[in-house]
Amino acid sequence: MAKILSGKELARTMREEMKIELKELKKKHNVVPGLAVILIGDDPASISYIKEKEKACNNIGIFSREYRFPGHYQEAELLDLIKDLNQSPQIHGILVQLPLPEHINEEKVLYAINPEKDVDGFHPVNIGRMMIGAPCFLPCTPAGIQQLLLRNDIEISGKHVVIVGRSNIVGKPLAMMLLQKKPGANATVTVCHTRTKNMAEITRQADILIVAAGRPHTINAEMVSEGVVVIDVGMNRVEDKTKKKGYRLVGDVEFEAVSQKASAISPVPGGVGPMTITMLLHNTIQAAKTSAGIKN
Ligand code: NAP
Repeated sequence: MAKILSGKELARTMREEMKIELKELKKKHNVVPGLAVILIGDDPASISYIKEKEKACNNIGIFSREYRFPGHYQEAELLDLIKDLNQSPQIHGILVQLPLPEHINEEKVLYAINPEKDVDGFHPVNIGRMMIGAPCFLPCTPAGIQQLLLRNDIEISGKHVVIVGRSNIVGKPLAMMLLQKKPGANATVTVCHTRTKNMAEITRQADILIVAAGRPHTINAEMVSEGVVVIDVGMNRVEDKTKKKGYRLVGDVEFEAVSQKASAISPVPGGVGPMTITMLLHNTIQAAKTSAGIKN
């Protein structure tokens, strides 16, 4: 039976470590990291994400300020708000919850965030820096996946990592991160997508298989080899009338069957999800330290 790679447990450990660091920061430097979270509209999933982020900040001692506006909020107003937050000394990280309403240009908004406060790691300056291996904010989900592997003592160097999915927030940055000539990386990386031919032939070659397709049942037991490490990034809501909410969360991997062959596997929920928020907290602390001139 596979080892369960619990993001929930690791997130708890890392947040305890951060609590200690935050106390030190306050005591020695009088620094309290601050995160601004902006939400436009009333998408229930987005509301629940920002609540979770806010709670996580408050639990460990990061100051968080929520900005919520109705769906008709204008792009110019949003850009003005970002300009103010870019200048604010209390705010070290700015997060704009995606997706934005159609009348707002997502690219323009994300590019308006000062790269030094871009704790989501979506600004092209940070993406470019990541690509060349320079210091930067790493995007939270890929960074969380890397930590989940490393802190479970799973060697990445020299391994064949197969990633299913090439989105700008998961697949592509993750491929770039694991390819770096750096500790915690040095993998041989293959990225699959919907135009990949004979995907099962490729996924069976993986030492580490990371699946971010956003479709349940993307990976079944026939598509993996014995001993593979599997990270399931997918978060899919499937109808379930037995649940209070009317749905349950499932990943992209057929967990029961695949865990019979895998040496380790992350569950959904409780796998990558809690790690994503943890890395957001980490980035916000880093931003505050950098702005105060404090070295790691
Ligand atoms: P996305 O933008 O929809 O991208 C999905 C990618 O998967 C695309 O590149 C697509 O290929 C590929 N794909 C889809 N079905 C495939 C298949 N059957 N075979 C091969 N490739 C396939 O999704 P995303 O934003 O990366 O998110 C992926 C999943 O991760 C979602 O379930 C999302 O909710 C979840 N997620 C979780 C977290 C977390 O914190 N746990 C964070 C982010 C995302 P094409 O490019 O060819 O279309």
